[in-house]
Amino acid sequence: LDGLLTAMQSLAQVGGWEVDGATGRVYWTEGIYRIFQTSPEEYTPTTALETSMRVFTRASMEKVISLAGHLSAEQSSSHDIELEAITFRGERIWVHATGNSIWKDGKLVSRTSVLQNITERKQAQMALQDTEDRWRLALESTGDGVWDWHIQTGVEHLSKRLVEMYGFEEGEVPNLSTELDQRTHPDDRPQMDRDRDAHFAGLTTSYSNEHRVHCKDGSWKWVLSRGMVIDRDPQGQPLRMIGTHTDITDRKAGEALVRQQAFFDTLTGLPNRRMLRDRLEQEIKRCKRDAQQLAILFIDLDHFKEVNDTLGHDNGDLLLVEAARRIQSCVREADTVARMGGDEFTVVLTEVADVHRLEPTLQKILHAMEQVFQLGNEQVFVSASIGITLYPLDATGIEDLFKNADQALYVAKGAGRNRFSFFTPALQEAAQTRVRLANDLRSGLQGQQFRLVYQPIVDLATGAVHKAEALIRWQHPTRGLISPDQFIPIAESSGLIVEMGQWVFEQAALQVQAWRTTLHPDFQISINKSPVQFHHQSQGNQRWDTQLRALGLPGSCMVVEITEGLLLDTSDRVSDRLMELADAGIQVALDDFGTGYSALSYLQRFDIDFIKIDQSFVRHLVPDSTDLALCKAMVVMAHALGMKVVAEGVETAQQRDLLAATGCDYAQGYWFSRPVSAPDFEAFWAAHPAPALLQSGS
Ligand code: C2E
Ligand code: CA
Ligand code: CA
Repeated sequence: LDGLLTAMQSLAQVGGWEVDGATGRVYWTEGIYRIFQTSPEEYTPTTALETSMRVFTRASMEKVISLAGHLSAEQSSSHDIELEAITFRGERIWVHATGNSIWKDGKLVSRTSVLQNITERKQAQMALQDTEDRWRLALESTGDGVWDWHIQTGVEHLSKRLVEMYGFEEGEVPNLSTELDQRTHPDDRPQMDRDRDAHFAGLTTSYSNEHRVHCKDGSWKWVLSRGMVIDRDPQGQPLRMIGTHTDITDRKAGEALVRQQAFFDTLTGLPNRRMLRDRLEQEIKRCKRDAQQLAILFIDLDHFKEVNDTLGHDNGDLLLVEAARRIQSCVREADTVARMGGDEFTVVLTEVADVHRLEPTLQKILHAMEQVFQLGNEQVFVSASIGITLYPLDATGIEDLFKNADQALYVAKGAGRNRFSFFTPALQEAAQTRVRLANDLRSGLQGQQFRLVYQPIVDLATGAVHKAEALIRWQHPTRGLISPDQFIPIAESSGLIVEMGQWVFEQAALQVQAWRTTLHPDFQISINKSPVQFHHQSQGNQRWDTQLRALGLPGSCMVVEITEGLLLDTSDRVSDRLMELADAGIQVALDDFGTGYSALSYLQRFDIDFIKIDQSFVRHLVPDSTDLALCKAMVVMAHALGMKVVAEGVETAQQRDLLAATGCDYAQGYWFSRPVSAPDFEAFWAAHPAPALLQSGS
């Protein structure tokens, strides 16, 4: 039995160490001699203190002494301690000592310890500690905060950098895992727990989670937490985990910005088209459920383009931001204001119980937009036009609702701007007609349904007619004669105006060629050119130049009538095109003058030969009227700038006389002749020798 015990002791590297309480002497078993690499022949243990000092290191001796002090009859009778020793051969070893003390009447009877050589395990542990230390050093050196979590005890060491990241001083945060958990944003906790559990369960090789941490100053910081379990118990339960926190606040802010930009307009911060659609979808669902109605408003700023073109884009931006603010201040919190792009805004008004209740809101918006806009040093006035459609009254689909609101807006603009207009079924019909006309336009152009009529332009000083304006007419096979006011805008929006304009030019050129021989050698025809043509045509002007030459005509046989809006386009393209006309000798007239935005002096930088005073000034022309004063001023200024003046819409002899008295050069209007076909024009010409047109009352 003794032999068996010895064998077991040597195998397990254990031995017995007993202290006799009465004498203080120590007895070792065979295993102890083996552990300390000695023999009973070489060494005989003496007292507990002496024997301990013989084998244990100085640091371990301190532990032994303090342990002995703690082991008293009242407190504890068992011990469990790891000690470092030096063997009789000088080897450094570790032993694990466990045992009991037996007391009687407050006196120690005996103390027995079982010692086990645990050097190998200890070395392995120390090696691990070593790699951990290195790892931690590596982690710290990345600049991240490091955490070291003892999962079973809940102790968590946080590196200096980690606590500083959240605004704390080192040592200010207790070393408990609950500290960081409590500072984690509640919204981020569930995912964090899921990620952690997945790693604990061995589903992921490392743990990684992004969450917000509450800083000392109350702010939130986004962090990326990464880590790994480095120690598990034999059952596989995680014991220890180590990892880092990386500050990703900037990256998160960047991501938020990208998201923001995808759904919001960067200039005004309002929801953009995409976001509006999302919201509208939700609102429509709600309306459906609650049997409610909602209103969609399309708001378009009047004259925004002019502001943008004359005062620059920066000021245009300022105006848009202010306009957005004003619109928003007119509606309730629950209503959505979005910017669709450019100067177009959309408002969704929810819970519209009664359509008539909308009116105050609409008036409020119009009024707000009429107020002066202070843009830096400039004061600007714009107004707004609003188109309104109702869900579910007018339509139920978003596409249809948008179309309706657009049509209503179109009407509001057409009716003179600065007003609102509700969508109506009649509008719907008109819109459908527009669509049909657009389709018919193309075939009309090919099917020769178009023709030109000519209106004489009379020289007010002599009564001579050496000029005419060519105006297009459309003889529609089923609808009859359609006015250009109806189809020119459609041709413009479909781009067909380019082809049409080319046709007008060719017709007019042939006509002027004829009339130069039959009527007057200096005959001149004006044609109207849409701004869209200027933007589309790449070398249209050179082509016109060549075409005229091919007909043996000088450029001066033609006048191109343009509108002010074109001149406000500051792009080089327009001024280049105008320059080309001038180079070809083709003259330029500014149509509908006085209705637009630009001052006469603004025209100086362009090569303008004629201004055409708009009909609205001529219509109410009577002696001593404001209009007469305005006409006079326009004539004087135009002459000062070297331009000739044509008055449009002259319907009475009085108008003609008053204009002639202002020094106006030419006049055009029903009083002389309506626009007529070429043969009728020739007849008119033959019937009216120059002075006849100057006789009052004829
Ligand atoms: P606009 O260039 O201002 O043309 C003058 C318009 O006033 C013409 O209308 C003409 O018939 C009308 N008019 C002439 N005298 C009088 C008058 O004494 N009283 C009244 N109340 N009206 C008078 P129209 O022919 O219906 O043309 C309308 C507009 O369509 C034109 O206005 C022009 O902007 C456009 N347009 C006409 N032909 C063409 C064309 O070939 N190309 C382009 N791009 N636009 C054209
Ligand atoms: Ca014209
Ligand atoms: Ca005109």
